[in-house]
Amino acid sequence: MKVLVCGGAGYIGSNMTAMLAREGHHPIVYDNLSKGHKAAIADKELVVGDLSDFDLLVKTLEKYEIEAVMHFAAFIEVGESVAEPLRYYKNNFCATHNLLTAMETAGVRKFIFSSTAAVYGIPEIFPITENSPTKPINPYGQTKLAVEDMCHHQSITGKLNFAALRYFNACGAGNNGTLGEDHRPESHLIPLIIQAAMGKREDIKIFGTDYPTPDGTCVRDYIHIEDLCRAHLLALKQLDNKREIICNLGNEKGHSVRDVIETVKRISGKDFKVTETDKRPGDPPVLTASAKKAKDELGWRVEKPDLEEIIETAWKWHSENPNGYPD
Ligand code: UDP
Repeated sequence: MKVLVCGGAGYIGSNMTAMLAREGHHPIVYDNLSKGHKAAIADKELVVGDLSDFDLLVKTLEKYEIEAVMHFAAFIEVGESVAEPLRYYKNNFCATHNLLTAMETAGVRKFIFSSTAAVYGIPEIFPITENSPTKPINPYGQTKLAVEDMCHHQSITGKLNFAALRYFNACGAGNNGTLGEDHRPESHLIPLIIQAAMGKREDIKIFGTDYPTPDGTCVRDYIHIEDLCRAHLLALKQLDNKREIICNLGNEKGHSVRDVIETVKRISGKDFKVTETDKRPGDPPVLTASAKKAKDELGWRVEKPDLEEIIETAWKWHSENPNGYPD
């Protein structure tokens, strides 16, 4: 299938692009390269463009005879979204509206959207199922939920079949360990801890130690990037006859910030400074998934469920690429 991968030069997008190609699909990357890395997409076809460029979007969809669109091109930082909500509404909501409008114009109806566990806000019951109330507590989660709603209404018209996949914490390196996580600036826990272990930053900061969790630090559900991407392929297969798919993608296990730090110490064999600091605005204490729906509906199976194994892939990639991607 010819698939347009918006944000295909980013962390999740590049892993998805590689997997699509490995599985015999034809991915075309659409990316403005504001955050993504050209080196992460190797020889794949690339259209350098912005999601705000309606004419280029329609032209690209038509030129490549695109049959499905996967959309990974969003801003992803909770704290930043609290500080700069308008940027998030513009980039995450308005740009997706533009993309869906271009898809309608070009007659492309299959759409896979990167959603997030942040749509649930501060859940009260664990694990979180797709029926849990959606009450985001930060603009990041709210913009993702608004896109899900827009897709839902558009799908009712019969012009869109979509999957909104609610990611928990994607991590590790995929494509045989060659595609890792390199955000600039980096804000994600695992790469930041690894940078501390490599001596590239003076410490790792724990954001909050008095959360209502067993060790006082936030608990998250870490899912390997390859497992996450594989769910997209399964969803793609079902979009021929399903109008709407909404699934959590998580490992169904919670690990605290302290657990993750200890695991990196063990795997790297390095000790480093850990500093306890204030909470980060907009962070829910616990996010752990029920992935039953993805397993039942998509036939999804997690192949790398252990945090140790996930972090090993990340550690290896960062050790081999100490400065990240070359560009
Ligand atoms: N975190 C932390 N120190 C950091 C970065 C993150 O304590 O330097 C915490 C953060 O508060 C959250 C967890 O680690 O509870 C995972 O954060 P990340 O940004 O990786 O993903 P998120 O859960 O926000 O999607």
